[in-house]
Amino acid sequence: MSARIASHTSVLTRLLAERAQALETLAHTDFLTGLLNRRGMLTRLTEERNRLSRQNSSGALFAVLLIDLDHFKQVNDEHGHAAGDTVLVGVAEVLRRSVRDYDACARWGGEEFLIGLFCVRSAAELNAVVNKLMRAIRTAEFTHEGTPLHITWSVGAVLASAEEDIDSLLLRADTACYEAKKQGRNCAIVDAEGHSPLN
Ligand code: GH3
Ligand code: MG
Ligand code: MG
Repeated sequence: MSARIASHTSVLTRLLAERAQALETLAHTDFLTGLLNRRGMLTRLTEERNRLSRQNSSGALFAVLLIDLDHFKQVNDEHGHAAGDTVLVGVAEVLRRSVRDYDACARWGGEEFLIGLFCVRSAAELNAVVNKLMRAIRTAEFTHEGTPLHITWSVGAVLASAEEDIDSLLLRADTACYEAKKQGRNCAIVDAEGHSPLN
């Protein structure tokens, strides 16, 4: 009898753990694109920053890229909201393909995305990822009901050490992205703050 109770308890415990894990995943996932949502990305950024901080002696860096689609309102206005949603899903796929498995992509809100790169050794390496992303969006093809849609984005990329807090990092990314918009959109601004591209 007690063996049966123990066995049932263990099954229930496992089911509860699985359910809790599923809820946790849902709470951290963007429903439209399947990327992390803002909460999921903030959790991941904090974990990765703390991990880097513990391994401080290696001088490892991490990077954040804020990506804002250009004139996205026009896409909705000219082709409809469903077309806009199709583009958001396609953009998420472009981002997923452009980063390594260990890195993270999130839909940060509306038509904004955030990438976290958690193993960057230099500004040159960050520049290479930024260039790759700019090529990826230039060559991506989006269509809605047979109509091709031309999409560009503006990127603010920042490099940080583990000492920098997440809020300050995000503020710098926002500023860099704003600067990219000011410079005419369809471009990237990299803020490597003291981490020389030659490092
Ligand atoms: P900018 O180049 O300055 O970024 O211009 P923008 O038009 O992209 O920026 P703005 O902030 O004026 O408009 C953002 C648009 O993104 C408006 C909003 O309807 C659209 N948007 C936000 N979330 C969604 C969504 O989930 N689906 C669709 N289809 N559109 C969305
Ligand atoms: Mg925006
Ligand atoms: Mg925009």
